[in-house]
Amino acid sequence: MSRFLCEKYKELIPYTPGEQPRGGRIIKLNTNESPFPPSEKAIKKAAEAAKRLNLYPDPECRELRESMAKLYNVSSENVLMTNGSDEILNFAFMAFCSDKTGAAFPDITYGFYKVFADINNICYTEIPLDDKLCIRREDYFGINKTVFIANPNAPTGIALKIGDIEDIIKNNPENVVVIDEAYIDFGGESAVSLIDKYENLLVTMTFSKSRSMAGARLGAGIASKGLIEDLDLIKYSTNPYNINSMTMAAGIGALSDGQYTKANAETIKNNREYTKNELIKAGFSVIPSDANFVFAKHNDISGEKLYQELKKRGILVRHFAKERIKDYNRITIGTREQMEEFIKTTKTVLEENI
Ligand SMILES: *Cc1c(COP(=O)(O)O)cnc(C)c1O
Repeated sequence: MSRFLCEKYKELIPYTPGEQPRGGRIIKLNTNESPFPPSEKAIKKAAEAAKRLNLYPDPECRELRESMAKLYNVSSENVLMTNGSDEILNFAFMAFCSDKTGAAFPDITYGFYKVFADINNICYTEIPLDDKLCIRREDYFGINKTVFIANPNAPTGIALKIGDIEDIIKNNPENVVVIDEAYIDFGGESAVSLIDKYENLLVTMTFSKSRSMAGARLGAGIASKGLIEDLDLIKYSTNPYNINSMTMAAGIGALSDGQYTKANAETIKNNREYTKNELIKAGFSVIPSDANFVFAKHNDISGEKLYQELKKRGILVRHFAKERIKDYNRITIGTREQMEEFIKTTKTVLEENI
């Protein structure tokens, strides 16, 4: 740290991304990426767009927004495209949480919410999950803060029912409720259908998981026209060209290949069932997941130890050194071959360490 850093950032604790090892024979099950390549249509579009990199991209993202609008049955004025969903989440903290209102989110959830609150100087309340690691909807009723809920939640994988989400929105008419649907294509029901009914609902989405485009950095928000205008204000005041031309083109390509996204999500769901069943047979407790990962623990080996032993053997999973969940590991669902290898290696680790 230099002596020039602003005082207000000196205590900031940044988000810690999962490890991204380069090279080697690593089975990477730690950041919930897709094991499948992007759609051929996305690749082709991105390559064509590369030829026009001398020009600025369309700041309005018209074509991509229209494709999104069509797919989700909304109007394009209900859609904002961002540089990953992380960007729209940050915009939402900036736009809708004053230092007075603050934010509320579960104690166990996506780790970035806290960082966005901190960097924007927003106070926040962490609402404890119940002892089954579920969100209790009543805890959010009339909370009088901007609410952030990942549905399905991470790293648990548990989804709230759409009725429960609606009750949370309904019971916070004076505040924005942000539903982060990063994993919705793997389970749970989207709240997009509610945006016409509730002007305070913002649904965020990402192309990083089910659409195999984590490297492209593309996210989106769907909400009432008013909320999108507010978020647009923040976008045009920070980074009007937030989506680069190749990513924008790839996004249009990916949306034109819905079959591919759907088929991959089905494969992941099947592999998730396989992984869950094998882990249970090996003595793990596995939380039923609606996402592209499972959260699992074993009574005879600590979460940290299992993580380390798998890593030594070339398999990366995600361990969180947080008191309530330190016994668990979050395991991204990969290809069937990767999951078979993961199960085999996990059994070896158990045999050698119990
Ligand atoms: C992965 C993830 C994101 C971030 O997605 P990007 O679009 O890659 O920025 C947001 N929220 C949750 C809950 C996630 O798991």
